[in-house]
Amino acid sequence: MSIAANAARHLATAVTAAVRGCAAALLPQNCLLCAAPGGDNLLCAACQAALPRLSAERCPLCALPAPGSNICGGCLGKAPHFDATQAVFSYEFPVDSLIHALKYAHRLAAAEFLGRALAQLPAPLHPDLIVPVPLAAARLAERGFNQALEIARPLARALGVPLEIRHIHRCRDTTSQAGLPLKERAKNMRHAFECELDLTGKTVLLVDDVMTSGATLDELARTLKAHGAARVENRVLARALKS
Ligand SMILES: [Zn+2]
Ligand SMILES: [Zn+2]
Repeated sequence: MSIAANAARHLATAVTAAVRGCAAALLPQNCLLCAAPGGDNLLCAACQAALPRLSAERCPLCALPAPGSNICGGCLGKAPHFDATQAVFSYEFPVDSLIHALKYAHRLAAAEFLGRALAQLPAPLHPDLIVPVPLAAARLAERGFNQALEIARPLARALGVPLEIRHIHRCRDTTSQAGLPLKERAKNMRHAFECELDLTGKTVLLVDDVMTSGATLDELARTLKAHGAARVENRVLARALKS
């Protein structure tokens, strides 16, 4: 074999190995939760089936459990600025571990899996745009990506709706409000977002990984409605049933 042919063969072998390595990194071989063979899925079929899905009877506005799917007491007392919320899972084990994986490891595989779960919810009324809840610039720089955007991508593809990630900003980092009482959270969120768009008459779909008190989504919906949005719906992966 000529030297050139030999070199080409070595190069081809190296490229094949590199491609295999990348594919293995993208597609975990074992279930993230129980280590059983998961094929090209993040989770094995048994773990997928055991994920904590929300009960069917939920408040249409905030997605908390509500008998007969009536508007819950909290929303009747003080209506949120958003018009509807859909959530896939309740925020408990092992969904919290999956969301942790999305933020800190297995990012691509977890985003694809969780984004597809979001896309499987019944389609909302033709949103004009999808807005992943923005992170503050400092938080984005620290993490390197916005997990809400990662899970919104497969959803935007599935619905054929544009993603808006340039003109709506979070001006303050309000992500660490876990220690604050509910009322303080709402106050802490005031004016956390900025919008440079005229959204007159538009329907906007907000996407986030976890909804806890709902204060973040409420303030973002308030901001977008102040810029003309006619309707704002939320689609979240996990709904915390206690805040
Ligand atoms: Zn498993
Ligand atoms: Zn409610």
